[in-house]
Amino acid sequence: MKKILSVVMAIVMAFAIMVPAFAADKCNCGETPSVYVAALGSGYVMLDEGTENERVLFRPETGDILKILLPVVPAAAELIATKNYDKFGDVLIGCVNEAFGMLALDGNGDSHPRVTSEQFHPDTAEHGGDHSYYFGYDFRMDPVEHARDLHAYLEEVKELTGHDTVKIRASSMGGVVMLAYIRLYGTKNIETIIFQNCPLLGTAVAGELFNGKFEINKDALVRYAECALPAIGVDFVSGLLYALCEALDEAGVFGALLGMVDGLIVNLKDRVFDECLIPIFGTLPGIWSFVPDEYYESGKEFMKLDPATQSGLIAKLDFYHYEVQSKAEELLRGAQADGTNIYIVAGYNMQRTPLVSAYMETSDGTVDTKYASCGATCAPIGSQLPEDYKQARFNDIDYISPDRMIDASTCMLPECTWFVKDMLHSTTHDGHGVFYDVLFASEEQLTVFDMPEYPQFMQNDTINQTFVPVAELSSPIEDAFNMMKVIPSFLNFVKLVATVLETVVDFVFKTIVPAA
Ligand SMILES: [Zn+2]
Repeated sequence: MKKILSVVMAIVMAFAIMVPAFAADKCNCGETPSVYVAALGSGYVMLDEGTENERVLFRPETGDILKILLPVVPAAAELIATKNYDKFGDVLIGCVNEAFGMLALDGNGDSHPRVTSEQFHPDTAEHGGDHSYYFGYDFRMDPVEHARDLHAYLEEVKELTGHDTVKIRASSMGGVVMLAYIRLYGTKNIETIIFQNCPLLGTAVAGELFNGKFEINKDALVRYAECALPAIGVDFVSGLLYALCEALDEAGVFGALLGMVDGLIVNLKDRVFDECLIPIFGTLPGIWSFVPDEYYESGKEFMKLDPATQSGLIAKLDFYHYEVQSKAEELLRGAQADGTNIYIVAGYNMQRTPLVSAYMETSDGTVDTKYASCGATCAPIGSQLPEDYKQARFNDIDYISPDRMIDASTCMLPECTWFVKDMLHSTTHDGHGVFYDVLFASEEQLTVFDMPEYPQFMQNDTINQTFVPVAELSSPIEDAFNMMKVIPSFLNFVKLVATVLETVVDFVFKTIVPAA
């Protein structure tokens, strides 16, 4: 009897020791670990890593790029003198291949063995407060492969922190990886996902380049330069650069420069595609994941993908395109049905990359608003939806922006998609952090109707690091004046002066001069 008792005692004691040990593995701090799934360029891509010839292929140091591109300068001088485009093309294409050629993947979509990339693992158990884990990847590779790595990464985070769930903020290409993750693993252990400026349905710059629709528009180029200015963060410098851009444009400098570039495009476009873009960038599943559906099959043809030698690569591209991007709505709604809060944030009213025919699409500068928002109906940049335009769906709820640039009713998740006017691609300030903290803190799915301070359409205020509600539009001078009143910065002051000057000049040349 005594023996049995001592055995029982021993077992009880053993449990008494083990139970706190188990409990210590679980963390009850109440702060779910947050993971940032980073944008393109988050992971270094190296050539000959660990040898004396080691070189960063992406993102390369500016000095390395300049060194490689140095021969282009005398070749350009010669081109101006001789108009010999072919000779210039030889030098230019040679330099680009030297800089980026090794990035190309083989017919199976695998990297050259000499090219390796940075691997990411969580390195600390600290997860409270502002701490966010960082997941990066090699932008060239198949997002589905990154999704598998991300799965392992999230398991490590859970193990390390003693939490069963995580919350995610995905930025730009990170959203592509996250969407592939949802397709592969679902979201049972993910509380919240914020998609920030993600090309969930692609971006026109990739679709059009992969269809050869390459062109440069002067007005788009000037707007592109000016749109990026608030991101500089130094108000006075931004204002000066804005004034400089306007002055150079008035003086015809941009037009003259583009005249020279036009000659290059006419004479060298085919060679640049055949000798650089197709053999290098056409082999990268990461870039293909940015191609919107309407450009996809024609792009595969234009980029000359060869089923005989590239079947493995094509299978990867098709899986992402048809099983992930094309199923975005099903995947996002499915995640919500599984209890995961989904938030989509898209920028608008920024000039998109001025290299492609779609330069009139409103965007965050990189990703078109209609693709980042999963389906918004958008007026072309700088204009409004037609006066007789009627909201496409859900007529009992107002989904049209006060400036009449966006109809959100056509979005896949209109009630949880926010639009930030004048937000440059993945460029955030403290105001974003505060907003995201509010979203992360909520156990319930919040909608655009739940928080008066965060309505569906918000004007980005980079000076005061906050958002203000988007205002209705009237005349350009009045708009510039109102903007100056709401966000009194030097840049907005210069914009107001420029708008007034432009209006006066227009009036003189259109009304007074013809009459005289
Ligand atoms: Zn904890």
